Order: sequence, then structure tokens, then C-alpha cells
Amino acid sequence: MTAEARPINSDLAFYIKRLRVPRLRDHLDRVTRQATEEDWSYEEFLTALLESEVFARDQTALERRIKKARFPSRAKTLENFDFTYQTSVRKQVLLHLASMRFVELGHNLIFLGPPGTGKTHLSIALGLKACHAGYAVLFLSAVEMITQLLEAQEKDSLREVLNRLFKVDLLIIDEVGYIPFGRPAANLFFQVVNGRYEQGSTIISSNRAFSGWGEIFGGDVVVAAAMIDRLVHHCIILELAGKSYRNDQAKKRNATSKKRSEK
Ligand code: ADP
Ligand code: MG
Repeated sequence: MTAEARPINSDLAFYIKRLRVPRLRDHLDRVTRQATEEDWSYEEFLTALLESEVFARDQTALERRIKKARFPSRAKTLENFDFTYQTSVRKQVLLHLASMRFVELGHNLIFLGPPGTGKTHLSIALGLKACHAGYAVLFLSAVEMITQLLEAQEKDSLREVLNRLFKVDLLIIDEVGYIPFGRPAANLFFQVVNGRYEQGSTIISSNRAFSGWGEIFGGDVVVAAAMIDRLVHHCIILELAGKSYRNDQAKKRNATSKKRSEK
């Protein structure tokens, strides 16, 4: 866009540079043209120009937040979640969560349920909403988080990594329970939950009911109980039930291709 823009006077170029608003330059031609066509006042013109700068900045910041959140996919949104398929959770509840009041209050959210019922999808969807609302988000699987923490412990940089996990407004820990942890890992997990307790929101998803968490966390029922205690103190628990959407889609695809090949 900049390459095609008509030349501007050197003073204007200087002020644009001084104010560090290079994108203003990109929008100048378009806004000037529209202002001339529609006979805007000076005030309207300046408003439109500044508006385009603010909008562009917001977009850049949003993009940065989404990148930093490290979502495994961006395509998992509330808008494309089929609530007619997953009926064990009401759309209304998710829409309320999407208002981000729970993040504002530092409350937690736990998704429980068997594989393929939408836990990861909904976690990402809410994470994306949080990014849109201006919150710092980080998404990781439990194994990823524990690996990072164990490595940090070895390198004497545990505090640094823990602080990074404490700092975000919304931490999403996915797939708790798929792989059981040893005691050192369980303790590190506890440190994360404890450090975020009443400080920031955490979304956790697990395929195991709380009764199975002792087994996940190094067989240490005391640590598991202490952790659950902190997690559920201010918490919304959503239990997802039903068949695996993944399997169902795969079956449907197979059925369609079978039908096609029979034709
Ligand atoms: P879980 O984390 O519970 O194992 P996922 O959220 O990973 O399940 O869901 C598995 C796949 O099915 C993903 O691709 C997800 O986008 C999709 N999926 C699951 N439930 C739904 C749904 N109700 N509507 C749309 N897509 C869904
Ligand atoms: Mg999952």
C-alpha cells in the first residue's frame, strides 16, 4: 500500500515518523479521498484517520496475543462448535463464559469428559475470546507444561518458568490425565496451581474424574486433594458426555465414501 501512495510533504512525513504511526501513511490516501468525496469536516477527517490507526494497532496487538497463546489451532471457535451435537453443555453457559467475567474474577474452569467430546475445542474457543478481550493467554498440554518445568528445574531456571506461568491472565492446561505423572512432576503441577490460586484463571481439561486424580498425580492422593481443593474453590465444572465427535465424523466420512464407491 505504501509503495503506491502518493508523495506527501516532508513535514508530514517527519511528524508521522516522530509520532511512530507509519500506518497512518498507509491510510492517508484512502481517508483523504473519502473525506473529499463526502465533504467531511476537518474533525471528521482526523477522527477517521486516527480510528484507522487505533484499529490497526488493536489488530496487531490481538495477533501478537494469539501467537503468544500458542493455540494448537485457531479454527476451534465457539461459533463453529455444534451445540446440537454436544448437548451436555448449554450454549448459554459457554456464551456467558465468553463474556470473560470468570477471567476478570480469576475463577477457574474445568472440562471433564471422555475423548472427542469437545474439551480442547471449547478451551481454545474461550482462549481466543480471552485474547480478543485483551487478556494474556497461554495454552499447553499437561505433558508439555511438566516437561518445561522439569527441564527448567534441571537448568536452575524453575522460578523463571513458573513466573511465566503465573503471569498470564488465563492459563489453559489441556489433557490432564492422559499420562500419569511421577511425584516430582506432580509437585511441580501443584506449584503451578498453588501459585495461580486466586491470582489468575486456569482452564483444565481432563478425561479423568476427580476420583482418578490421585493416580494421575504420582499416586499422591494428598497432593491431588490439595490441588483439587484450590482449583475448585472458585470454579465452574463442566462435564461433557456423549460420543466422540471425531469418531462420528470419521464414520460419516467413511459411510459417504462407501456410498460413492458403490454408485
Ligand atoms: P477432546 O478434547 O474432548 O478430546 P476435541 O475438542 O479435541 O475433544 O474434539 C475432537 C475434534 O472434534 C476436534 O476437531 C473438535 O473441533 C471436534 N469437535 C468436538 N465436538 C464438537 C462439536 N460439538 N462441534 C464441532 N466440532 C466438534
Ligand atoms: Mg483434548
